[in-house]
Amino acid sequence: MADAARIAIIGAGPAGLAAAIALAEAGIACTLIDDNREAGGQIFRAGAALPPDIPGIDRRGRELRRRLAALASRIDHRRGTEVVAIDAERKLWLAGEDGRRGELPPDVVILCPGAVELFAPVPGWTLPGVFGLGGLQVLLKAGAVPEGPVVLAGAGPLLRLLAAQLIACGVELAAVVDASPLPGPGAVADMTREPALLARGLALEAAIVRARVPLLRRHAVVAIEGAGAVECVEVAPVDSEWRLTGRSRRQFRCTALGLGYGLRPNVELTLLAGAEHAFDPALGGWHVRRSPDLESSVRNIFVAGDGAGVQGVEAALAEGAIVAYAAAVRTAHPNAASLYPAAARARERLARLARFRRGLAAWSAPRAGIFDAARPDTFVCRCEDVTRREIDAALAAGFGDMRALKLRTRAGMGLCQGRVCAPIIQHLAAAATGRAPAEVPLPTARPPLRPVPATALADLPMEAAP
Ligand SMILES: Cc1cc2nc3c(=O)[nH]c(=O)nc-3n(C[C@H](O)[C@H](O)[C@H](O)COP(=O)(O)OP(=O)(O)OC[C@H]3O[C@@H](n4cnc5c(N)ncnc54)[C@H](O)[C@@H]3O)c2cc1C
Repeated sequence: MADAARIAIIGAGPAGLAAAIALAEAGIACTLIDDNREAGGQIFRAGAALPPDIPGIDRRGRELRRRLAALASRIDHRRGTEVVAIDAERKLWLAGEDGRRGELPPDVVILCPGAVELFAPVPGWTLPGVFGLGGLQVLLKAGAVPEGPVVLAGAGPLLRLLAAQLIACGVELAAVVDASPLPGPGAVADMTREPALLARGLALEAAIVRARVPLLRRHAVVAIEGAGAVECVEVAPVDSEWRLTGRSRRQFRCTALGLGYGLRPNVELTLLAGAEHAFDPALGGWHVRRSPDLESSVRNIFVAGDGAGVQGVEAALAEGAIVAYAAAVRTAHPNAASLYPAAARARERLARLARFRRGLAAWSAPRAGIFDAARPDTFVCRCEDVTRREIDAALAAGFGDMRALKLRTRAGMGLCQGRVCAPIIQHLAAAATGRAPAEVPLPTARPPLRPVPATALADLPMEAAP
């Protein structure tokens, strides 16, 4: 499979799988790299047997994995392999879970790294028993059904989806706490453009109502309490900007809390490659800029799926088809034209989905006020134990940009490298200095993106892209 190294796809979720399979079915070899043992990404994650009637489990993943296996002669699937660095010349540094290291110099790179969860800190959010909504769902798919009562809080489609899934698994839900209001008429009109997706969302809400679980709209978690682990969650109303109003508070006893305010694109690889980014709350915040062919500002680095802007599984599949055609054209493969019809259909599908996404974002994309719920002694960076008080003090001392804040407080320098705290600090910095969040760029990413053995450090590019 010598040709497979010419096109490398990073991420074997819906976008990366769709691209790899389309290329391979057209007779074009490629390399598909993913840090999981099984292909599928987040939504098609292969997991333990869950009840057959559990809502929102997308069974298409099984079929995609079957096609991937059938195309093994054309797809060099590197499982359990992480891309820990990339440079503007498209060179990739790989680290295997077995300790193996490697490098690849593909002609074309297709980045499909998906999204990461978006959090807003509140007192007690570092207690054991507090999970991200997505993290709790990953555990559920792995067969670890939490003991109730559980509270779910935050915003976005995953909130109701996970609620319905836990109910179907027989878990007692104490409350579902949603910061979003009821969707306005404009948002509803946009969402009706995709009746099947809208119907799926309404069915999830109906499952919550049928189970008689309290569903609090325009509310958010104010504090999480417990001696050594979460025992109780306090919630309060929020205003239209999702700022806590300080009015009536309610408490719910629980043994686990799922918390999350949606998703944001995983931009660490595009930042490392030196690509240009833009800010749009409707796409999850900072995201890479792309041409109509989904190419970043760095030539021959294409980006597809949630990693370029959170738009969901249907858009990720469509973008996989578009980017497969673009990569085949760029490598001047003689079979490129055979990919054109599917790419053209995918573009039409994306255009229809855009209206739905706009409505969804207008309803549930996080508002800036939610990032202000942390108190002075609340940890903002959980890896380096940096509190809100320390961030506020650094801001007051004039350290207004993300890099300066990072150097001053160590926030974002820990194990997760700012994956969790970077957007929180961005919003705190914006609010304290009277800027829009779009005026506070994320700090430069540094290789390696994940911990690697010390012996591997010597091989890595130590200069981050400008
Ligand atoms: C935790 C979580 C749970 C979700 N649950 C649902 C759900 O139940 N229903 C729903 O409709 N949508 C869900 N979503 C959203 C949905 O997963 C996405 O819309 C869709 O999967 C996007 O597909 P993708 O291919 O862009 O990314 P993903 O499916 O996220 O796939 C990206 C893949 O890239 C891998 N990767 C990332 N960086 C690297 C690297 N440096 N090296 C190697 N591999 C890398 C990731 O591990 C992952 O396997 C969820 C998202 C998250 C984050």
